[in-house]
Amino acid sequence: SLPPDHPLLRDLNPEQLAAVTLPPVHALVLAGAGSGKTRVLTTRIAWLLATGQATPGGILAVTFTNKAAREMLTRLSALLPLNVRGMWIGTFHGLCHRLLRAHHQLAGLPATFQILDTQDQLSAIKRLLKALNIDEERVKPKELQWFIAGAKEDGLRPHHLPARNDLERLQVELYQAYEAQCQREGVVDFGELMLRSYELLRDHEPLRVHYQRRFRHLLIDEFQDTNRLQYAWIKQLAGHEVDGRFVPCGNAVMAVGDDDQSIYAFRGARVGNMRDFVREFGIAEPIKLERNYRSVGHILHAANHLIDHNRQRLGKNLRTEQGEGERLRVVELPSDHEEAQWVVDEIRQLTRNDGIPPHEIAVLYRSNAQSRAIEGALFNAGIPYRVYGGLRFFERAEIKHALAYLRLLENPHDDTSFLRVVNFPPRGIGARTIEQLQQAARDAGCSLHDAVTAIGGRGGAALGAFVARLDVMRERSVGRPLREIIEGVLADSGLLEHYRAEREGAERIENLQELVNAAESFVSQEGFGRDAVALPLDETGTPAPAAGATAGGVEAETGETLSPLAAFLTHAALEAGDHQAQAGQAAVQLMTVHAAKGLEFDAVFITGLEEGLFPHDNSLSSVDGLEEERRLMYVAITRARRRLYLTHAQTRLLHGQTRYHIPSRFLDELPAESLQWLSPPRARASGGFGGFGGWGGAAAGVPQPAWGRSGLTDERPAGLAGVPLAAPPARSAPAVSASGAEIRTGMAVFHTKFGEGTVLAIEGQGADARAQVDFRRHGTKWLALAVAKLTPVS
Ligand code: ATP
Ligand code: MG
Repeated sequence: SLPPDHPLLRDLNPEQLAAVTLPPVHALVLAGAGSGKTRVLTTRIAWLLATGQATPGGILAVTFTNKAAREMLTRLSALLPLNVRGMWIGTFHGLCHRLLRAHHQLAGLPATFQILDTQDQLSAIKRLLKALNIDEERVKPKELQWFIAGAKEDGLRPHHLPARNDLERLQVELYQAYEAQCQREGVVDFGELMLRSYELLRDHEPLRVHYQRRFRHLLIDEFQDTNRLQYAWIKQLAGHEVDGRFVPCGNAVMAVGDDDQSIYAFRGARVGNMRDFVREFGIAEPIKLERNYRSVGHILHAANHLIDHNRQRLGKNLRTEQGEGERLRVVELPSDHEEAQWVVDEIRQLTRNDGIPPHEIAVLYRSNAQSRAIEGALFNAGIPYRVYGGLRFFERAEIKHALAYLRLLENPHDDTSFLRVVNFPPRGIGARTIEQLQQAARDAGCSLHDAVTAIGGRGGAALGAFVARLDVMRERSVGRPLREIIEGVLADSGLLEHYRAEREGAERIENLQELVNAAESFVSQEGFGRDAVALPLDETGTPAPAAGATAGGVEAETGETLSPLAAFLTHAALEAGDHQAQAGQAAVQLMTVHAAKGLEFDAVFITGLEEGLFPHDNSLSSVDGLEEERRLMYVAITRARRRLYLTHAQTRLLHGQTRYHIPSRFLDELPAESLQWLSPPRARASGGFGGFGGWGGAAAGVPQPAWGRSGLTDERPAGLAGVPLAAPPARSAPAVSASGAEIRTGMAVFHTKFGEGTVLAIEGQGADARAQVDFRRHGTKWLALAVAKLTPVS
């Protein structure tokens, strides 16, 4: 063992040290945000390796994102002289994928199987419905997708599901048909990755025993957000059922989590897994960590105060020794545009005057749709930024097209990819030919690729030429480095030429170039050399089949010789949007609150703190829903180290509609003494006038706004909740309405639904322009001019 003053251990507090140096037993660390859970997990791995209690091959660690996995590997490499590359550290999906690759035969998959992302899955489902002649009105593709994903998350195959009425029968049949289609095409969706690898372990005892012996230590971060299937998967690696009771085997499972940060219940996550874990693994007492190392006092105090409003809690405490720090700054803006502008101005201050580097600043929002305004403002200000989530880099159309060609090189039977590019760039293959082809494939029960020879005439010739072109590309790619393969495909497929001729193709070509760069950096990061790399084998380093390899038993793990291309395609499908074109290091980070879990930044903006947005409309109908939103808010607050901003806007343009919003109830749930209002707080609907009377009430004694930025009304009286009394400052520039008429302030106008009114103000420009109109019958409304048809009346 190591002395406690060893560099690995000396910064730990006593509770952390105890957790890190536990003997190999099952343990649950249950502790609040920023208390060092992830740090404990990483340090424990390092400690196990440094003391020789484990080898890199004997450890399996589950992280929540690919980014977190990479960070963990980087930290471990820095701490240890060992080669930790190729360790089994990754997300559930990543690890399951690896298992399936290594044992694809046993799992019933072709060696070249590809991953279907959510978007591709939806198009596969649409294709299925079409083939079965089922109207999309009758079965909504998204609903079927949801149904299938839900069933898989519960570990259920079609034959497990009830078919008590016509609807259920249809659903089950479609699920079955979808499975058959995926199997034929050699593709697996995200849910299938998980379920298939769970079944693989469950149904093949020698294999299961092999991995149980191999992974002596299983470590899981963010345990509160695991779903039923993920927990069952872990159990496969850690024991077996005897008479319906779970009996752990000899390895050690350490789970760390925080029930207050459970934010994926809507996707099937189960806090109950924590309770089950304690019971089934016989854990006497969860380990608690109570000192927060991340945030200053006011931030932590605010987080504690807020989460205290939740009933369903396991109960934890957090303290900091960092001092109070600055209070949280709260500001209200007239519109989402002004909110974005305000945030950007503040970011400039932070980087210029406070010396906070851009990548230490995060702008968080509840839903992706909110990022547009902020992106626009950052872009105009010339501040580099990076968006996590949203439209992921690998989901852009041109990237999808390029990837489809690459996937077809690997697996010509991938029909989704085939259909995506069979006539892209256009090569005169019409919709009728494609329908014929699909029919022929259905009749023969084969892939589209294999059905091509069945089609005659001009269409058949064109299809034949397409397939021949693919064959040529495949031949040319043999033995070449990844970079050259991709460049070759971009040229030979005609994609580059196509986009060159397109008016707005320049950006697409840049993105395609970025794809080549992404591949390049992937190759160097992952250590893929010119040759395919076999991942490390078991502890002893022998590629021999494990003990008990019998017929139908364990395949040698040597099966895992992923080519760089195959590995890169996997990366593209699994990467959670971590890659963004032109992503520099010095970029402001934009993401949803969900995506921010586990991360930390010097300064954080939580934007759009409005009723209906955060807490989200969908959550308001139930206590559980609201508590989950509150946990989400808790996650958001606890991302900040030093400075936290809370912003909200009176009006917001969302989904083409301008809406009035009242401030989020979460603002009321924060301790007044930790807040600094930069604009007068406004009454909330439920708070009424008494409780929160604008300038009076809770806001009394609050310092005056410390700034006087133009365009903001400092002295706006609190009015009827949700309805700003003073119009936002009018801008005199005219704008054009959807009817084509020029609209100016003061003008009398007519709207087909709301009738006659007077334009009070115009705001924004171009597609974002909107007008505030006082309608005689319907009162004052904000209208998006790109949508609303206003005509001047004389
Ligand atoms: P979350 O719940 O948000 O995932 P966490 O419990 O995983 O948080 P960490 O991210 O591990 O917390 O730690 C929070 C911060 O505190 C990190 O910057 C970490 O390096 C730091 N930290 C943790 N423990 C210590 C310690 N003993 N001494 C100094 N810094 C520490
Ligand atoms: Mg963590």
